[in-house]
Amino acid sequence: MLARMTDATPLLDIRDLHVAVDGKEILKGLTLTVGAGEVHALMGRNGSGKSTLSATLMGHPRYKVTAGTIRYKGEDLTTIPVHERARKGVFLCFQYPLALPGVQVSNFLRQSVKAVRGDVPTKEFRPLVKKHLETLGIPQAFMTRYVNDGFSGGEKKRMEILHMLLLEPSLAILDETDSGLDIDALKVVAEGINRLRSKDRGVLLVTHYQRILDLVVPDHVHVLLSGRIVKSGGADLARELEVKGYDWLEQEAA
Ligand code: ADP
Ligand code: MG
Repeated sequence: MLARMTDATPLLDIRDLHVAVDGKEILKGLTLTVGAGEVHALMGRNGSGKSTLSATLMGHPRYKVTAGTIRYKGEDLTTIPVHERARKGVFLCFQYPLALPGVQVSNFLRQSVKAVRGDVPTKEFRPLVKKHLETLGIPQAFMTRYVNDGFSGGEKKRMEILHMLLLEPSLAILDETDSGLDIDALKVVAEGINRLRSKDRGVLLVTHYQRILDLVVPDHVHVLLSGRIVKSGGADLARELEVKGYDWLEQEAA
């Protein structure tokens, strides 16, 4: 069935989602709505199911939706083939990106943009890349290196964020992209997200730390606990968690 997107249709609408990995239920009734123009931070202890949600949204074959619904721009996301999701504007920033020795950054980005957005003439692609390199403080020499091959943690993040900006996704999912970064790399990630931020795009930012949320102020913050969202609030909630930890939420949820 064709679904039409109206102004009232949320970008991402997840209802009572249950997901199993290798037969074990990890997400147990997760409900979350991300509207266009919004940045949502998803927090929670290790093992609460954050990466399971990210992988499910990208359609990783090991993650089986056993109940509930995921609608993206009004369409059932689970029926959209994985390779089509990127074309439809879903971008996942990986926690551990792969190295592609022998593949130059410039070629990789060009081909990726072509696959997702259609061919962009070199005349337009070059200045676009240049603009993003400048914003992110990446030297031009970066473009001739091999993708993630021998990259430092910070360089891998710059690569991911540059890739994200070039693809101009409608929905960007960043799974702990900020973990283990020094302050310069963290600023690049934050700058990239803030650049992407606009009234028709949404961001789901999975993080453990307040420090990125000082740079990318979220519209909504959610806490995932044992496969369910147990608390939602504004940017204040993240600051409260920084001080109080997660124990009090476990007691509340019990
Ligand atoms: P988070 O990203 O919040 O740290 P994950 O989504 O990675 O959490 O993991 C959620 C839970 O799923 C964890 O308890 C983890 O042990 C479990 N899990 C992940 N993969 C498998 C698997 N293949 N089989 C069984 N359990 C798994
Ligand atoms: Mg994780």
